[in-house]
Amino acid sequence: MKAVRVHGPGDLRIEDVPDPRPAHGQVLVAVEAAGMCATDVHILHGTFPCRYPLTIGHEIAGRIVEVGDGVDPARVGASVTVEPHEYCRECLYCRIGQEHMCTAKEAYGVHVDGGMAEYLAVPSRLAYDLPEGVSAALGSMTEPIACSIHAMDRLGAVSGLPVAVYGCGPAGAVLVALCRRAGLSPIVVLDPRAERRDLALRVGADIALDPTTGEIEDIVRDLTGGYGFSYQIDAVGSPRVIEQAVARAARRGTVLFFGVAAPGDPATVYPQEIYAKELSLLGTAINPYTHHRAAALLPQLPLTELRTATYHLTDAAAALEAQQRGEVDKIFLAPGESLAGAGAGNGATRATV
Ligand SMILES: [Zn+2]
Ligand SMILES: [Zn+2]
Repeated sequence: MKAVRVHGPGDLRIEDVPDPRPAHGQVLVAVEAAGMCATDVHILHGTFPCRYPLTIGHEIAGRIVEVGDGVDPARVGASVTVEPHEYCRECLYCRIGQEHMCTAKEAYGVHVDGGMAEYLAVPSRLAYDLPEGVSAALGSMTEPIACSIHAMDRLGAVSGLPVAVYGCGPAGAVLVALCRRAGLSPIVVLDPRAERRDLALRVGADIALDPTTGEIEDIVRDLTGGYGFSYQIDAVGSPRVIEQAVARAARRGTVLFFGVAAPGDPATVYPQEIYAKELSLLGTAINPYTHHRAAALLPQLPLTELRTATYHLTDAAAALEAQQRGEVDKIFLAPGESLAGAGAGNGATRATV
């Protein structure tokens, strides 16, 4: 089969590799769509801890075409999304219900071969049924949605209070939509790019601001009655966000770090402000126990507002370049036969075949 392989920083290859076989307890998934995200670009650039050589791709949807021993043959034909993590079950975290903190975590597309390939064999329990009528492309977004649901769980927001979301890429857009469903008000998005501010408004933001304009602090003060934001979500991964967010936080406010900052990138914060305002600064990582909930929400989120492009698997290099140019909100890869069926719904554009 064809697979998108990264052999080291800057070394991307489309390779023929042996078809995987489903082992005991596994299902074989014919991949129909693999979402691309910033992590894939980081892996290509050598700025994300991973294990080379590697088939990338951790946002995966497809159809079960074969099952291994011990798996109900009735699963063949099911349209599924893959939860791309396996845990050791033996470390401290695995033993206290915090498996996503596992010290020996193996992530598909990061540590072990992932879904930018024609086939992938995974444990049956990691293949979640997609709701009826959901396309493979939208199905592949279950993973970032699951991460966003965990983020909202961490935020623990109560309705009727203001939230700021920094950055409105695809995950930021999902977070905005979830803030809407959680009843936060007003929902303020800060993004320097006009098309992303437009997206923010389409998926549920009340106001979208360009943070590079001069009067931003006055606007924030007006929007929050002078109190600041009760909740803030960094969906960028920039150290500047924590500096701004601590200053803009309401008393007892929460700042949540969802975006992935570069390792070693420092920020300047003033502990006195954290102390005096009783702030909570929280991290959120991946998707513990939220993949099922994300799949259930797929038909209800405004995902068709994202401008998408689907590339053939063998055009992965062009897709990765397009991802870095950021001209659409979300890019999917699809093997040839499934390209037509991978569409994200209305608004989808097909860039190449
Ligand atoms: Zn991702
Ligand atoms: Zn573990």
